[in-house]
Amino acid sequence: MLWRDRLWMKHRHKGDYDFCPLCYAPIKWVYDGVDWIPCDQEPVLIYPHQGKEKAVIRRELLFDCKLYSQGIMPNLRPVEALRPHVFTCHELKK
Ligand SMILES: [Zn+2]
Repeated sequence: MLWRDRLWMKHRHKGDYDFCPLCYAPIKWVYDGVDWIPCDQEPVLIYPHQGKEKAVIRRELLFDCKLYSQGIMPNLRPVEALRPHVFTCHELKK
């Protein structure tokens, strides 16, 4: 098997590339104060503290988010967040 570099949830050092080495999706590196988190470049809307999805809000990785979809929580306002690419990469899901 051919060895290829891959992204992890957190990196000690910022990668010197701005795309996923597996699927070539554009990556935005977010520094949380300790580690670098490679995220999808496009923000998504989420509800914090409502589910089990991981997302980065204001440089903080949360483990209890729910992805927004219209009408699921009509009384809550969703917020913009970035998703760590390890959870969206279709090559890593294979
Ligand atoms: Zn990828």
